[in-house]
Amino acid sequence: MAGRAAKRRGDDTATDVAILRCDPLPHRMNRGKELRLLDLLVGWRSCAATVARLQWRLFHDTGRFDDTADPAKSHRKDHAREHAVPRLAVLEAIVAHHGVERKSPPEEGKAEPKRIFRMLHTPPGLVDPLAGHKAAIGAAPVAMVRRQVVGMLRSFVSNRQNDFVDAVHGSTLDEPARHMLLAVNKAMAWHNLNRPVYAKRPEGRVLVPREIRLLARAIWRHVLSLHRKPSTKRIGMSVDKRIATLSPAKAASAFPLWLRIAIPHRGAIEIPLRETLHFQRREGQRCSTFNVSQDRETGTLAFGIVTDIRDACDKAKAKYAEKARTDLLALDFGLSTLFASDRGDLFGRGFIRKLKSIDATLIGMARHFQRSNPGRKLRESRRYRALVARLRGYIETEVNSALNRAVAARLPRHLVLERLDFRSPELSARMNRLVQNCGRAVVAAKLKSLEQELGITSTEVRAAYTSMTCSACGYVDKRNRRSQSQFHCLWCGLTIHADVNAARNARGRRSSPVEGAGTANGRRGILDGLVRRHVERWPGERVLRPLGRHGSARRPADPRPANPYFRGRDLARSPAWSGRTAENGTRQGRGLSSSTLKS
Ligand SMILES: [Zn+2]
Repeated sequence: MAGRAAKRRGDDTATDVAILRCDPLPHRMNRGKELRLLDLLVGWRSCAATVARLQWRLFHDTGRFDDTADPAKSHRKDHAREHAVPRLAVLEAIVAHHGVERKSPPEEGKAEPKRIFRMLHTPPGLVDPLAGHKAAIGAAPVAMVRRQVVGMLRSFVSNRQNDFVDAVHGSTLDEPARHMLLAVNKAMAWHNLNRPVYAKRPEGRVLVPREIRLLARAIWRHVLSLHRKPSTKRIGMSVDKRIATLSPAKAASAFPLWLRIAIPHRGAIEIPLRETLHFQRREGQRCSTFNVSQDRETGTLAFGIVTDIRDACDKAKAKYAEKARTDLLALDFGLSTLFASDRGDLFGRGFIRKLKSIDATLIGMARHFQRSNPGRKLRESRRYRALVARLRGYIETEVNSALNRAVAARLPRHLVLERLDFRSPELSARMNRLVQNCGRAVVAAKLKSLEQELGITSTEVRAAYTSMTCSACGYVDKRNRRSQSQFHCLWCGLTIHADVNAARNARGRRSSPVEGAGTANGRRGILDGLVRRHVERWPGERVLRPLGRHGSARRPADPRPANPYFRGRDLARSPAWSGRTAENGTRQGRGLSSSTLKS
């Protein structure tokens, strides 16, 4: 099936990709069944740790994860057992001779004997590194673990690939170098320099030179070092039809569904499940995959039924496409107003107030905990974890509802958002960290589901200086921002809600990206581009009368000499500098409509 193949490649741009949703169902299970499942979970997680280790090694060698790679197969193919056994004995002897005990914990301050592990376990190796796990939880579950872990690692690497792109775009490198770096990133050829990578250039197909490859490897290592690798310690079990089946109850009872999980060597467990309203309403194709997850706090197990909703989504998309009436909606993100649109709507006001009150509780809790439990981590506190869970829930509800309202009000086909920054000087450092980590993930998930379920696509633009740049004339000045909510342009006199102004800037940046963004490093480049653009557009002394309701009485002096951003710019000697003549058509009126010029 094409859809499945596309899913396996981890490619979700294809239209026929499965869209999966998991509904948790309430269950009743006796303690005996639960203990047997928990036993399986322990084996599952231990197997996942080994699989992750093997897959990372494969990734470093080949640039790919492989959910079909079974080291046992290559072992059987390449090494007849009678040869393998004596060679294993020799290796074990070498290991013993060097005094490295493979099973013992590493000595203090010493790394694990990785080379020995590799000698014994690299496929085609002498030993199947998963043999122990296969004996413990069964061969089919090991294959399921592999698929689950590979999915997790692929999504981690794909996020890091995006980080790589950001890093390259934010660099000062020239265009050909950036292009070639991105080609290496796309080919996932960061590690293996012997694998040739070609980039399409105007002059034809070009082999990426070695110095670029080395640079790509350094950037990749840096990007990886900023994130912890995904942990398998707390993963749940994604079981499929090889060991699990769902069927309707044979007799009428309070539990209409029964999930049967066959645990190798331990018999089958029947788990009664109750349906929820949400689940009953869920349209789509039931999958033969089930998620068994464990609650972090209570340790209890939960069962999720997976449904492929792509057909329902296609229908909803077609329906939405008919009624959509805005091509592009730009949203500015902030903590005081969650989302402001370029049309002047404000969604999710008062977000920061609630965050501040949670922050106050958090600060008090941290102080109390550290006084009464010196030397212990706050994370060990149950009350703290409950508060963090509540915060996550709150952010999720607020973001989802604000975006839903924005979509319902404007029915857009495409969204433009600023690169999100959830930090605020009004919150404590700990709170900032929590909100930042959780907020980005929540917004990303919501945008993804909007795209899957309604076909609304989105792009992200760089947010630097959107809050202090005028969306009408492009004048950038710190003093333009009078307060949290009020924006008043010192150049053209525009008065507008500050967040709406920023949303309009985001919209503008999508259609005409600021020249200089990306070429020089980050914010500085954007500022240079903005200032240059403004000086070119409005050469000479300011001759405009202030616009709008608020500033027509008096003509303030040119704000630029007192603006540090314009320091060093040759304002007086720009080509059109000749007093009032600038009024007569020398400026290109981008951003100012004829009606505003007349006023
Ligand atoms: Zn202005």
